Amino acid sequence: MSRGLAILGATGSIGCSTLEIVDAYPDRFRVVSLTGGRNLRRLAEQVRRYRPRMVAVLGMEDADRLRAELGGDCPEIGYGEEGMVRCATADEADLVVSAIVGSAGLVPTLRAIEAGKDVALANKETLVAAGPVVMRAVRENGVRLYPVDSEHSAIFQALQGQQGNTIRRIILTASGGPFRDWPLEKLRQVTREQALDHPNWSMGPKITIDSATMMNKGLEVIEASWLFGLEADRIAVHIHPQSIVHSMVEYLDGSVIAQMGVPDMKAPIAYALAYPERLELPMPHLDLCRLGQLTFQQPDPDRFACLALAYRALELGGTAPAVLNAANEVAVAAFLREEVGFLDIPELIREALERHEVGRLTTVDDALAADRWGRQEVRKLMLERGSERL
Ligand code: NAD
Ligand code: MG
Repeated sequence: MSRGLAILGATGSIGCSTLEIVDAYPDRFRVVSLTGGRNLRRLAEQVRRYRPRMVAVLGMEDADRLRAELGGDCPEIGYGEEGMVRCATADEADLVVSAIVGSAGLVPTLRAIEAGKDVALANKETLVAAGPVVMRAVRENGVRLYPVDSEHSAIFQALQGQQGNTIRRIILTASGGPFRDWPLEKLRQVTREQALDHPNWSMGPKITIDSATMMNKGLEVIEASWLFGLEADRIAVHIHPQSIVHSMVEYLDGSVIAQMGVPDMKAPIAYALAYPERLELPMPHLDLCRLGQLTFQQPDPDRFACLALAYRALELGGTAPAVLNAANEVAVAAFLREEVGFLDIPELIREALERHEVGRLTTVDDALAADRWGRQEVRKLMLERGSERL
């Protein structure tokens, strides 16, 4: 029997890579539902090609446009959160690929878990915003949560066969992004185009900016803490510019198990889709001799303040990570619109966190309320700053 996939965020970078794996293994996987955002043309192409039972888009007008584009031969089209949830919980879906960007992915992912679906999770913001809620739902519903993020897939792979509680710490690797060695003063001048030009990975715009600020690694530290049940002091970050070692587990006996490969998201996606099997992929050999060397260095907390902010939010706990994530989403969107500078991103997040009174986070409503608070606070901060400049 083939595995039925619901792909949330199908038109994005992870969504398209997932569909490439479906193309290579049409007997193993069938597409049950797809969701998209702004790129309706791509979604229409995907619908024609994969013939899902159901699709969902952002708004009612998008649904009308997609219906017009597809003509008579059209699946059920939903919209908004309700439509996304229907796609995520579709009866025939065995595995939900959660690849919406940002906390917009939270509710559909959570509803999928509650409906008993296994989840391949790319959408790290879901775990950052609502880690305790999501992990409790995973336990209560007896579903599997497979990491898609390459670092977490690496850890997951390095943990295979592990017995009992034998982890000393995990080490997440980070490329350091395009500004790895830039001095702080130069970072102030970074443009949108420079920040969007990542040296090793081709990804959606939000995560590309997160990689340049290193907030991506900060979000991944929080993601790892939930996925693997580790406190902040047992999660280290090493900068590794070649992006060959995708992450490592250090065990109590001092052994360190690393997972390596050429940087291509299809490998961790395929591992999540086919676990515990490994699919043959048309991947180039990893030629370590040609690479010559793999290097590692400590991240500089002064130049990459976002990483330290994420550790602080994780240590504060409760609603703090949800506020961190929401503040980051708004600040990054403003940077992409060229309304704030590169170093304003950590400054806005720091101010929002400082103003936040950390509360308990035990329900999805707590997470959504903290998310809303973080968004509003950064918008308010940007307005205040704008009026100061006048
Ligand atoms: P992307 O921007 O390329 O795609 C995002 C997808 O979400 C698109 O389908 C878009 O239409 C949809 N979307 C956007 N806003 C939405 C909203 N408000 N409601 C519903 N759908 C919406 O992003 P991506 O690079 O594919 O990343 C997706 C997720 O995977 C992110 O959480 C990212 O952190 C994570 N991730 C990505 C990579 C990568 O290599 N791209 C690696 C690791 C983790
Ligand atoms: Mg990653």
